[in-house]
Amino acid sequence: MSVLKYAPEALKNLFKPPVTTKYPFEPAVYPEGARGHVEIVIDDCIGCGMCVRSCPCGTLAVDKNAGTWSIDRFDCIACGYCVEKCPKKCLKMVQGYQTPGVKEGMVTYTKSPEQLEKDRIAREEQAKKAAAAKAAAAAKAAEAKAAATPSGLEQAANKTAAGAGQAGAGVVTNSAGAGQSAGTAAPEAKA
Ligand code: SF4
Ligand code: SF4
Repeated sequence: MSVLKYAPEALKNLFKPPVTTKYPFEPAVYPEGARGHVEIVIDDCIGCGMCVRSCPCGTLAVDKNAGTWSIDRFDCIACGYCVEKCPKKCLKMVQGYQTPGVKEGMVTYTKSPEQLEKDRIAREEQAKKAAAAKAAAAAKAAEAKAAATPSGLEQAANKTAAGAGQAGAGVVTNSAGAGQSAGTAAPEAKA
């Protein structure tokens, strides 16, 4: 009796394709919206660290100078924040599960030697530009300071003039002083 109860369902399923897959002998078919795992195009990474700062699990590490990007896949929850935040769009969520492993630990991706060399040259050029800009700013500041301050000669002249004024008619050391002296002796000259 119970066999007859399930017979219509069994007959229907005879004409339907199987619901199981032959994975791993055939490629797996992932459901729509499956997050998969994070992959990186390492040569496009600029080492800004935005992904590291946005990761809620603290599972990423970046070394700009060494040109490396590392992930501990056992800690990643595939939230996709790092992908969202990457300014170079070199991270993406890829369908498929990560490769199984037997122990925890960081997987590190390193830039190609060509890209590392390009980065080194770019860094050097950037440092040169920064040094030149700094030197130009310092020179400009020194120029502005010099323009705002009286020159050594002017300062000496001012000091002398002040000294001559205090000493009176008997001391004449330069033209300014002489002018003052002449002014003091004027009544005699007129007489
Ligand atoms: S997907 Fe989420 S958990 Fe995984 S590395 Fe990116 S930010 Fe971190
Ligand atoms: S956010 Fe993108 S460019 Fe910046 S360090 Fe991470 S992977 Fe590299």
